[in-house]
Amino acid sequence: MSVLDCAIIGGGPAGLTAGLYTTRGGLENVVMFEKGMPGGQITNSSEIENYPGVTGEITGMDLMAPWPEQCSKFGLVHEMVNVTRVSKSGDLFTIHKEDGTTTDAHSVIIGTGSRPRRAGFAGEDEFFGRGVSTCATCDGFFYKGKEVAVIGGGDTALEEALYLAKICSKVYLVHRRDTFRSAPNTIERVKSTENIELVLNSVPDEVYGDKMGVTGIRVKDKEGNTRNIDVPGVFTFVGNDVNNQTLIQEDGSFLCDMNEQGQVIVDISMKTSVPGLFATGDMRIAAPKQVVSAAGDGAVAALQAISYVDELLN
Ligand code: FAD
Ligand code: NAP
Repeated sequence: MSVLDCAIIGGGPAGLTAGLYTTRGGLENVVMFEKGMPGGQITNSSEIENYPGVTGEITGMDLMAPWPEQCSKFGLVHEMVNVTRVSKSGDLFTIHKEDGTTTDAHSVIIGTGSRPRRAGFAGEDEFFGRGVSTCATCDGFFYKGKEVAVIGGGDTALEEALYLAKICSKVYLVHRRDTFRSAPNTIERVKSTENIELVLNSVPDEVYGDKMGVTGIRVKDKEGNTRNIDVPGVFTFVGNDVNNQTLIQEDGSFLCDMNEQGQVIVDISMKTSVPGLFATGDMRIAAPKQVVSAAGDGAVAALQAISYVDELLN
């Protein structure tokens, strides 16, 4: 394959928007490397109500469904592969892929997003996929008419607790403090939902079960009192870690400057410390972690990449 004008790593809202703007803005040879179906983590959300211009109840999956088609109309190519590393030698970037092949590119826009963090209680890994889940839209239906526990006190935990409350007979919302870090109207909705019981100032201690799966979770409050909540399903929503693995070089260093949380340092043009490399969406410093801002980053980075490639080649 000839050298790409731009390689886009990640096909979430940031990568897809970068794909739309680079191709529509005149770059002819652009490939978006996405290891799964394009759409990103919002496709796991049961409801999104803050994407501008989109009214009514809409799932993350429905929101993202038309994005890839819109991009391919302008020439964006999607290669479904896991990128293992991005390196740079001279002016040329190399995309290293899990299938052992490589692709060279003049510029790179990276938007590999973030992934759900583990809460760190006993049994969490052992029972992951057998009663412990990080996706209510994927697994909520398995607990139709049953009781479940949700761990966390952010937007994700509260929104997914509301979603689960519609399917399940009861939701125990376990949070380590007595105030939430979520939008006020979401907090109000949670508090006024009859089948959500707030279990506050409590942390998960252990998930227990048998060979069939989870049978309950023991939580501990600030005084050290424990309580067993017998549920077959435990959903954890305790934040995200940045997917920055592709920027790690063979010697263990990062390709570009990062902060101590592993987020990519960018300026307001999404430029990293490496010319021609742009970082977007949830993986960059000070990311608002919203679909609309990730999409905005993708557009900004694309316009910068077009100028960069133009200057490099002309
Ligand atoms: P992501 O969406 O994380 O996309 C990154 C993509 O990169 C993924 O598709 C991934 O498969 C791919 N990728 C990662 N590593 C590689 C690799 N090595 N090789 C190839 N591909 C790779 N935001 C809102 O604005 N409103 C909401 O209501 C809202 N609700 C949410 C509910 C939930 C449950 C969650 C989890 C998030 C929610 N968010 C919401 C946040 C929003 O989803 C994110 O801010 C947004 O998706 C970030 O977009 P992104 O493109 O930066 O990354
Ligand atoms: P978050 O805002 O980081 O919240 C994580 C929650 O989990 C916090 O309440 C935290 O408690 C708790 N927690 C963290 N580690 C824990 C542990 N080990 N054990 C128990 N509890 C733990 O994460 P998020 O809710 O996934 O949201 C991520 C980002 O996406 C945010 O910026 C959010 O605004 C955004 N988002 C937005 C929307 C929306 O706009 N509608 C929807 C979803 C997500 P503390 O509160 O005590 O720290």
